[in-house]
Amino acid sequence: MITSVANWKLNGSDELFREWFREFKKDFNGDFSKIAIAPPTLYIPLCNELGEDKITVCAQNLDFSNAAARTGEVSLEMLLDMQCSMSIVGHSERRNIFGETSEMIHSKLKKIAGKNFIPIYCIGESLDEYNSNKSFQSIETQLNSELLLLREEIKIYIAYEPIWAIGTGKLPSINEIEKMHEFIKKMIASYQHINLLGMLYGGSVSPDNSPELSRSRLIDGVLVGGASLNGNSFAKIASSFS
Ligand code: PEP
Repeated sequence: MITSVANWKLNGSDELFREWFREFKKDFNGDFSKIAIAPPTLYIPLCNELGEDKITVCAQNLDFSNAAARTGEVSLEMLLDMQCSMSIVGHSERRNIFGETSEMIHSKLKKIAGKNFIPIYCIGESLDEYNSNKSFQSIETQLNSELLLLREEIKIYIAYEPIWAIGTGKLPSINEIEKMHEFIKKMIASYQHINLLGMLYGGSVSPDNSPELSRSRLIDGVLVGGASLNGNSFAKIASSFS
C-alpha cells in the first residue's frame, strides 16, 4: 500500500529532482514501495529513472479521452506508455483553478476503471462548508456525483483534502479527520466493485504533525504538497508512515 505521496504541483527541474532523490534516499528509513511522487508530467521518465523502480511515479492529472483535439492534455494511454500507472484525479486546484467539474472527474474515473491504472481521487470541503457544518454533505455530494456513479471495477486511493487546509498550515483535528474517513468508508462499503486501497489525508501535513497522524488506525497515509518539496522533510513524514 502507498502511504506517502509527494505532490510537486508546478515545481521542479532536472537539478531539483536529482537533489531531492539524493536527500530522500539518504534520510528515509522505511519501505520504498510505500512511496509515490507526483512530478509535473514532463519529469515522469526522470523520476522513474531516479526512483530505480522502487518508488511509484504518479501523474498529477490526466484527460478523460485519447487521440482527440484537446491541446495540452495527457491521456491514460500516454502515461502507461511512460511506465506510469497512477494519477491524482480531482485535486481541488484542478477543480478551482482549471474549472474541472464533477462530470469531468467522473469521466476520468470511468476512463481509468477496468484498466491497470490507479487513481488517487481527491475530495474535500471548502472553508464555508466547514464553517457551516456542511463538510459531510459536501463530501457526500462529491462521492455521489463522481465515484459512486461508476459501474465498472476500480482500484482506488481516496485522499480526503479539506480545501481550507491545503497550503494554509491549518489542519482539522485528528478526530475530525477520523470521522470523515469513517464516513467515506461507510459510503462506499456496499459498492463491491470499488476496491479502496487506502484512505489518505492531505492538507498541511508536515514532519511535526505526521507522527500523530500516523498513529491513527483510520489514516492509512498522507498526500503532501509543500512539505514534500524538500527531500529531508518528506523523508521524515514518510518514515512515520512506513
Ligand atoms: C495538496 O495540494 O494536495 C496538499 C496537501 O498541499 P499542502 O501539503 O501544501 O497543504
